[in-house]
Amino acid sequence: MGGVVLKLKIAKPEPMKIDLHTHTHYSDGHLTPEELVMRAHQMQVDVLAITDHDTTQALDEARAYQRTQKRPLQIISGIELTTRWHGFDIHILGLNFDEQHPSLAARLAEQEHTRVDRAKQMCDKLAKCGIEGVFDEAMLRVGQGQITRAHLAQVLLERGEVSSFQGAFTRYLGKDKRAYVNAKWIDIKTAIEWVHEAGGVAAIAHPASYDMKTKWLRKLLIDFSAWGGDGMEVTHPNMQPTKKALLAKLAVEYKLKAVVGSDFHFPSRWTELGKRLDISAELTPIWSDWSQITPLNKELI
Ligand code: AMP
Ligand code: MN
Ligand code: MN
Ligand code: MN
Repeated sequence: MGGVVLKLKIAKPEPMKIDLHTHTHYSDGHLTPEELVMRAHQMQVDVLAITDHDTTQALDEARAYQRTQKRPLQIISGIELTTRWHGFDIHILGLNFDEQHPSLAARLAEQEHTRVDRAKQMCDKLAKCGIEGVFDEAMLRVGQGQITRAHLAQVLLERGEVSSFQGAFTRYLGKDKRAYVNAKWIDIKTAIEWVHEAGGVAAIAHPASYDMKTKWLRKLLIDFSAWGGDGMEVTHPNMQPTKKALLAKLAVEYKLKAVVGSDFHFPSRWTELGKRLDISAELTPIWSDWSQITPLNKELI
């Protein structure tokens, strides 16, 4: 008779869940800051950056709500700044900065002005296509937040002018479509300076989503690095492995640190907080020297 074999199970530390790209209803996300934090808890997220389009309005509410919660969650300050580069709208993530920095409020007010101005011009173009009054209707949805093309798309969809949200971009709101307006956004160099002056790091958001050839993407990364940019997003929950491999290679080549984020706007079958955001070991995570992230018994992903 054989003896009893005892197998010792050593618990492997769970990887830390980090999501550095999310939205609330202060831009085109659907959840309030409280609801976003609640969802982060449900999804076992450990580190969450809130990166609304051109605003930090959600952060205070999110932090206040988190203080009432038992489960720990590191909330990192964030923003997604809209910039213009060679005819492309490039989104720059600012992370881990002092959102109370004295220079920031006036600068973000400038971006808000550009947003409102562009939305009005786009709605004038829609009116010329026979679709009146979209601006006022969109502003009702915006409340105290920032108006985005997503708000205009929602109005067009609900009025039945288009048959899908995506269709609003294909038909009217997308680059060079009937209601598109070339706005006077800041340039990338300025966005990097704003974030750096407030003590944070700057990263290119969703580099694979700009509908540009790899040659142009390389040019973008070269410029971004030369202007002192720190990192780039290297993955997204739905990213193809070949795209992911290309982005990892480019991040290494241009010495940019890795940012991971879901670009969460609302819960759906395809988008969720903190899921499938692992990165390869060759990359340097942008959070590797953030003092407030204390791994405890968890491994950093
Ligand atoms: P804006 O920053 O106002 O130009 O709006 C950009 C936002 O609209 C993006 O962050 C997306 O949330 C959404 N968006 C832009 N293009 C599309 C598209 N083709 N399909 C769906 N959503 C889009
Ligand atoms: Mn958005
Ligand atoms: Mn974006
Ligand atoms: Mn985003």
